[in-house]
Amino acid sequence: MRLEESREFTARLEKAALKLLKLEVFRKPDDLARRFGLPLPVVRFWWRNSDQKTEPLGHRELTLKQSKIIRRANQVLEGWEKIKRYRPACGAPLSNGRKCKLSVVIRPPEGWDRGCLADRCRMHGGLSRRVRKKKTEDE
Ligand SMILES: [Zn+2]
Repeated sequence: MRLEESREFTARLEKAALKLLKLEVFRKPDDLARRFGLPLPVVRFWWRNSDQKTEPLGHRELTLKQSKIIRRANQVLEGWEKIKRYRPACGAPLSNGRKCKLSVVIRPPEGWDRGCLADRCRMHGGLSRRVRKKKTEDE
């Protein structure tokens, strides 16, 4: 997954998470993180960096628009489970002329500002913070 795609996808997750927290569909970032299998520190960080103002729906009946927004946000966040399981292939060229089929790596929480998924697998430098050179000779 290219850096831009990964960033965009992560931004969509963040937006959806903040929406649901704002409306108090989930009361705490941790509850939301657990429900969708997101890393706790990431969701906490998103929430801390927002204005943290809530507009609770209370017990009033949802308007059609509100329920649509909530459903959409849920779908976006459920997409994370899917993408986690079916990550794109690394695609780094191998010495036998083929391409690496391992899944790209999920970045640790502190790397999510660059997107949740790296563009390479663990073996091919997906976790390195530097810009990759043509070939990594280590290991
Ligand atoms: Zn690889």
